Amino acid sequence: MRTFGSLLVRGLIVGLFAGLLAGTFAYVMGEPHIDSAIAIEEAAGAAHTHDANGQAVPADPEEEPLVSRDGQRFGLFLATSLYGVALGGIFAVGFALLTVGLLLVLAYLVAFDQGAISQSGMYLHELMHDGRHLLGVPCH
Ligand SMILES: [Zn+2]
Ligand SMILES: [Zn+2]
Repeated sequence: MRTFGSLLVRGLIVGLFAGLLAGTFAYVMGEPHIDSAIAIEEAAGAAHTHDANGQAVPADPEEEPLVSRDGQRFGLFLATSLYGVALGGIFAVGFALLTVGLLLVLAYLVAFDQGAISQSGMYLHELMHDGRHLLGVPCH
């Protein structure tokens, strides 16, 4: 018997692994291209920013980026991991809610259906008739 808590924890763990996998893929396949793009920009000496009129002006060569490249590489894994954990948890809760929804439909079909949902006429009602009386739900 899986509790909701263990289901949620499994979703979070699987999401973490999926996020780390996505981060590893992006790190291996994407980061080298970003590094070479930055190298091209820096080699061209074209680092510039824009003034209030939209005119290009040389950037301050001493200006440090807000987050370093190493920081951004760490942030890549942080982002994919957190996103994976979030989606894993959301899917686990969604799965639990879907299960609850299906069980509610089942309880409805046993206890309250008069043919409108089941499209069986009074068949389910009469089939479950004695049980419905035992369960104390309305008859006709
Ligand atoms: Zn009845
Ligand atoms: Zn009856």
